[in-house]
This record gives sequence, C-alpha cells and structure tokens, in this order.
Amino acid sequence: MSRFVDDFMAELTAKNPGEPEFHQAVMEVAEALEPVLDKNPKYRKAKILERLTEPERVFLFRIPWVDDKGEIQINKGYRIQMNSAIGPYKGGMRLHPSVNLGVLKFLAFEQVFKNSLTTLPMGGGKGGSNFDPKGKSDAEVMRFCQSLMTELCKYIGQFTDVPAGDIGVGGREIGFMFGQYKRIRGEFVGVLTGKGLNWGGSLIRPEATGYGAVYFAAEMLATRGETLEGKTCLVSGSGNVSQYAMEKILDLGGKPVTCSDSGGYIYDEAGIDREKLAFVLELKNVKRGRISEYADKFKSAVYTPVDKAKGFNPLWDHKAECAFPCATQNEINARDAQNLVANGVYLISEGANMPTVPEGVNLFVEKKLLYGPGKAANAGGVATSGLEMSQNSLRLGWTREEVDARLHGIMKAIHKQCIDASAAYGFEGNYVAGANIAGFLKVADSMLDQGVV
Ligand code: NAP
Repeated sequence: MSRFVDDFMAELTAKNPGEPEFHQAVMEVAEALEPVLDKNPKYRKAKILERLTEPERVFLFRIPWVDDKGEIQINKGYRIQMNSAIGPYKGGMRLHPSVNLGVLKFLAFEQVFKNSLTTLPMGGGKGGSNFDPKGKSDAEVMRFCQSLMTELCKYIGQFTDVPAGDIGVGGREIGFMFGQYKRIRGEFVGVLTGKGLNWGGSLIRPEATGYGAVYFAAEMLATRGETLEGKTCLVSGSGNVSQYAMEKILDLGGKPVTCSDSGGYIYDEAGIDREKLAFVLELKNVKRGRISEYADKFKSAVYTPVDKAKGFNPLWDHKAECAFPCATQNEINARDAQNLVANGVYLISEGANMPTVPEGVNLFVEKKLLYGPGKAANAGGVATSGLEMSQNSLRLGWTREEVDARLHGIMKAIHKQCIDASAAYGFEGNYVAGANIAGFLKVADSMLDQGVV
C-alpha cells in the first residue's frame, strides 16, 4: 500500500470503526484513484475523496411490526443518502439479517460510482433492514414493509431519493412499500423502481441486472475476438440476478452448470437448460423453496450443502471458462479465486456487489483475466431503474425491445468508459481501475462545480 492510501485508510477506519466492508470498498477505490489525484491536485485540494466517503445523510429508525402470532417484533431500518452530485439518490433496499450500517455504507459508496457509469443522472444511496424475509408469511412481510415505509416515506421522493430492490426485496416487497407510500403521501409517483407492470413498472427491469452482467461479459470477450457460445459458466445465487444471468447465458449459447442459495449449491454437469431454469424460477419466486430441491427433481445434478469448515466454496472449484458470482459480498475468498484460476476460468463478471475479497481481485488483475467488477458489470439494474424513472416522468411505457436495446447500449457504453479510462492512466485492460476512475471523474467534476456542499 502507498503512503497516501495508508494515511487515508487510517483516518477513515478511525472515523468509521467496526465497518470492515465499508473500509474494503473504499480501499479499492483509493488505490485506483491515487494516480488520478496525483495528476489532478484540484481534487485533493477540494477534498473530494474525503467528502465522497462521508454520507450526505444517514437515517436510522425503528421498525415495529406484529407477527402472525400477535408478538411484537422490532427491526432496525436504514437509509443512506451518500452523494447527490449528479442526481437524486438512487439505490436498493436490502432485507437480510446481516444488514448493518457498515454493509449499507459500502453498498451506498459503490452505488455512487456505479450510477455515474450508467451515463444517467442518478446519485447514490442504499438502505434496508436486518429483517429476515425467509420463513415469513406474505401477511408478515406486508406488515413489516408497511411499517418500514411509514417512516421511510418522510425521507424519499421522486426528486430526492428513489429506492429499488436488492437482496430480499423483489416485486412483492416493492408492491407493499409502494402501496403504503401512496396511502400516506396521497400521490401516485415514481418514488420506487422495480414496480409492477400495471402500476408504473418497466419491462426488462426484473431481468436487467443479470442480463447486464452477461452483456458486459460478452463485451469483455469481444476484446479477444470471442463469444459466450459453448462456454461453461459457474453461477452463484438463485435469486433475481442469478436467474436472469442464467437466462442470458443460455440466449448467448453458454452453459450454466451451477447455482446456489445460502444452504448450498447444485452442480449440473449436463447444464441448466431452459426447462430446468423455469423450475428454479418457480421454486424461488413462487414456492420460495431451497435449491437442494433441484437435485431431487433433476438426477443429473449433485447438491452440496455449505460447509464453513472447508475454508473454500466448492462451487468455484469446477472446470469452466466463465464465472458469474450473483449472491453476495465476499463470496469468493482468496482460495476460491485460486481455484477459479486453476480450473481455467478466465472471465469473471460480477452480478453481485463486491463478491470477491481484495486478494482475489488482485490475483484476477495480476493474471490479466477478463475481470468485470460489480460496479461496472451489474450496473444494468440501476440503469434500467433509471429508464423506469424516465418512463414514469414521460407517462408512457417503452416496449420490451426498446428497453432491452437501451440496456444493451448502456452496458456497451460502460464497458467503453472502463477501457478508455484505464488506458488514459496506463492500466490497459484493468476494469477495476477503469470503472473507479471513470465513475469518479464525473462525480468529482460535478462536486467541484457545485462548491463546498
Ligand atoms: P435475491 O433475489 O435476494 O437473491 C440473493 C441470492 O443470494 C439468493 O440465492 C440467496 O440465498 C443468496 N445469498 C444471499 N445472501 C447470502 C449469503 N450471505 N450467503 C450465501 N448466499 C446468499 O437478491 P439479488 O437481487 O439477486 O441480489 C444478489 C446480489 O446482486 C447482491 O449482491 C446485490 O447487492 C446485487 N445486485 C442486485 C441488483 C438488483 O437489481 N437486484 C442490482 C445490482 C446488484 P438465500 O435465498 O438462501 O438467502
């Protein structure tokens, strides 16, 4: 680590104790930006990086609700408004027991750069709760979402802060939140994205993050004159991002062979074809079941439960060319990264946010793999949320083909920005440097224009 990064991180860690994920996200950015700050002292003088790492605003609130047995439950609620230099705050809500302030600050920080890369006018934010939707009835999820929105509606709005989905928040939860916002505020506006098609949603929004990560992969492969045709792909997760990444891999001729949930993973050497993928969608979105049931249904698959004592995830230890981590942060540890490389994987496109630990990122960069970091590769979701906001403002809805074409165009533009920015600073082919630098410049210049705020 350089002296600058050392000093910067020491101060940030002292100011934000107990937030390891936030420190990890900032360190990657600080390392990538050092040459930019050296070349442009104006950013140092204006303390742009110091300001970028301090949220503009954080809301922390109580979410009381009553479960089906009549017991009162209390969860923590958060909304982080990180940076509004280039547009209203935008970023998802996460419902998962692991949610805390540090996790949401890392996600909000990443979101600022990601949203900047989309070419659309959106600032960065993130929120959520330590509520665990698993095993809860629809009625319990509804009461929880209503209680959350009763408080959150004071801080958000179509021109100020527009939340969306993330882990544990899909169409059902967005529906309950939107209903409560409308009821309290008495207005029908595009205050959330990921809405149902009948009430202001956009076609392709559910598919967008997964599709986008695969479009980004196709762009990276094209730099070597290759396509996804015939390539074996390791995919993790079995939620929203994972499902549509697998669909687009199939569209482009690839073969997904794994998917997972927090209980374990399945390896299907014959490939997860369209029929099997339809089973996964029904299992996860309707029945809300476990991925182990896939191996009960399809005999070509082997299910392996999670074994933390192993020290590595066997999902990343199969022969393949491509990997699409689509579950959660730090799901690829240093040993998993080595296993991927040893198994011949040379493309990693991150559907999840920060799924690879820093040692893994360094290994991928050092080996010159085609490595698309989350803030670039999974930006298709928020980009299409931006397109949903545009359609809401225009009071019309675009066709599936039109939204998909725009999403595809945005992913190509993000890829080009990464390539151009990395080349401009002497890091050819390094998408980590490219994404951080390109994302930073637009926000930093806007902050300079707007003075010390
Ligand atoms: P989701 O629909 O809730 O699915 C999450 C999947 O990951 C599930 O299969 C879940 O398994 C698994 N998972 C979650 N936490 C885990 C953990 N701690 N250990 C192991 N597995 C875990 O969420 P999603 O929307 O697909 O989000 C997945 C990732 O993509 C996240 O990193 C999210 O921030 C990122 N992302 C999402 C979007 C979007 O538009 N949704 C956009 C950009 C980035 P269980 O069901 O067993 O928990």
